Amino acid sequence: MLTVELYNLKEVLDLDCIFCKIAKKEIPAEIVYEDDKIIAFKDVNPASPTHILFIPKEHIESVNFLNEEHKHLIGEIFLRIKEVAKEMNIDEDGYRIVNNCGELGGQTVNHLHFHLLAGRQMQWPPG
Ligand code: IMP
Repeated sequence: MLTVELYNLKEVLDLDCIFCKIAKKEIPAEIVYEDDKIIAFKDVNPASPTHILFIPKEHIESVNFLNEEHKHLIGEIFLRIKEVAKEMNIDEDGYRIVNNCGELGGQTVNHLHFHLLAGRQMQWPPG
């Protein structure tokens, strides 16, 4: 019982979360935007010439874990994506925003994040 409770606590805090560590500056990242609630940094393994990840600093595992209290935060993330896209001059050519949720969705890091991809022609449907 105690083991289960400790496991759940670890899930909530996610002490091993690599994106939490980036948000807390415990591991390095090429940060392109930051405020008190959001941080954006370059993807270490870019899938396009521009590939930025936008994350809430709060550990939210995925879209599945969003609730009504997160409405404003998610809106803010999209507005910051729009602003960074403009600053990087990728807004006029266009870009793609991606969120992968869960195993079949292709999520590999269990901390909510939105990919901003640009600099090449995107294909549809995605793989
Ligand atoms: P997902 O597959 O949608 O979960 O995306 C996770 C993304 O995080 C992938 O594109 C990875 O390349 C990226 N990633 C993993 N670890 C790091 C890191 O330490 N710094 C920057 N990007 C990372």
